[in-house]
Amino acid sequence: MRRLRVGILDLVTKGPTRALWARVMNPNMASIMPQVVGVWCEEEGHSVTFVCYTGFEDLMAELPQGIDLLFVTAFSHAAQTAYAVSNLFRRGGTVTALGGPHARCYPEDAARYFDYVFGFTDKALLKQALDDCQPHRPVGVRLSAGRQPEALPSIRQRWKFIEPTIAKAPAIKIVPMIGSLGCPYTCSFCIDSTVDYQPLGFEQITDDLKFLLTKLERPRIAWHDPNFGVRFNDYMDAIEAAGPPGRVDHIAESSLSLLSEPHLKRMQRNGVKAILPGVESWYELGNKSRTGSHRGMDKVRQVAEHVNLITRYIPYIQTNFVLGLDVDDGPEPFELTKRFVDLAPVALPGYSLLSAFGRAAPLNLEYQRTGRVLPFPFHFLNNNSAMNVRPRHYDWRTFYDHVIDLTRYSFSWRAIARRFAATRETIPKWMNVVRAVSSEGSGRIRHYTTVRRLLDTDRSVRDYFEGESTELPRFFEDRIRRDLGPLWEFLPEGALSHNPLAYLESTAGGFVGLGGLRAAAEPA
Ligand code: SF4
Repeated sequence: MRRLRVGILDLVTKGPTRALWARVMNPNMASIMPQVVGVWCEEEGHSVTFVCYTGFEDLMAELPQGIDLLFVTAFSHAAQTAYAVSNLFRRGGTVTALGGPHARCYPEDAARYFDYVFGFTDKALLKQALDDCQPHRPVGVRLSAGRQPEALPSIRQRWKFIEPTIAKAPAIKIVPMIGSLGCPYTCSFCIDSTVDYQPLGFEQITDDLKFLLTKLERPRIAWHDPNFGVRFNDYMDAIEAAGPPGRVDHIAESSLSLLSEPHLKRMQRNGVKAILPGVESWYELGNKSRTGSHRGMDKVRQVAEHVNLITRYIPYIQTNFVLGLDVDDGPEPFELTKRFVDLAPVALPGYSLLSAFGRAAPLNLEYQRTGRVLPFPFHFLNNNSAMNVRPRHYDWRTFYDHVIDLTRYSFSWRAIARRFAATRETIPKWMNVVRAVSSEGSGRIRHYTTVRRLLDTDRSVRDYFEGESTELPRFFEDRIRRDLGPLWEFLPEGALSHNPLAYLESTAGGFVGLGGLRAAAEPA
């Protein structure tokens, strides 16, 4: 067996940044799978160099030299960065592979720039690529295990990759853990809605927490489970078995439906400090928010009451919303969210513009079929830089007016002060302030306002948004050039654009393998 020199690059962000929130949090946003791949590569006898790019390093200097295989993980908004990095390394004779959300959502496009593109990845599948390790060009090999792996390496095994990553965080250091994959709910826009819920082993959770207590004085854990606490008692038992309560802090995304008062009491005892439930819409998805058939203002009141109950037990709450869903019409959904901001001042609202990430969710087929998906470059697909689905009930100007108004309202000094006063603990109080005055509040208001102005003043922008032109407006191209910095010159020709209908056009086929490598169909 050839002993490979493997480089692993976890692209937490797409380019250099100076934003305060990014400085504090990006090192805490590392993905788990690149660390998993690192462990598996070493278990197969290969050497690994690991880089987590947070936007503050000199990426060109950090990238490992003299490697045989570069494995990159990226969300779609970092795809152009990933493509440029891949091109740079391929020119130097390195074989490249892409995994992570972008590879799952846009495998057809990624295969134009990588030798291997991974969907669901398990150790056996990775081993086949390691054994093969050769260029596949002009179109790379697309690989996917039929399902998510049944087990992942422990924190103990991943620690050598975690430790240098969280060392980059200046103040708060957060360790990524995961206890389950998939979700039993079926929110039609969500990548996890088609992945069967699957716990990963509760003994490992206990062992991982015990291990962390030997490494960190007071570990803080970010749970990467799509929906934390579905097997609530098993989770809490596993956490309690690790030691006396209150020695570890936890952050998790969880449905409101799982956050009953008895659950909240137990979560408080066990150190859950931050919770991020998804409300998404005032008109649907009542099952996951425990609001049943309540809609509109009734749902606002009920969710606000629930959030105010949560805050008695958990100091930090972010409530997530999707703006521009097909059920939304007129000013009402935005006004309702403003009422919610008033009624539950403690909650930091997280807004996402409706986005269709390739083959992430079956609903995207419908958007593609009805011609509503726009070809915005991946670089802008981060739920706020652009919205690549034309809204059903709004023209773009009206829509952006509502979004700007709501964002201003939610991050006004009045709202910031009320949030500060309503939040009990010091770190959550200041985290909310930093988020409001940094990229999430002020930064987004600036960006939305610019886009709104361009819709009035720049014909090329208007035509692009209306789907009347596919020529990328100068404003967006300049943004990518600026963000990529020195990597811009390595962006392969054609890599600014992609086929936004690739999922629809591929429904006759699934993942295909080349050269005898195992491949299985990706779930539709
Ligand atoms: S509850 Fe959350 S994780 Fe589960 S399908 Fe809905 S959005 Fe996705």
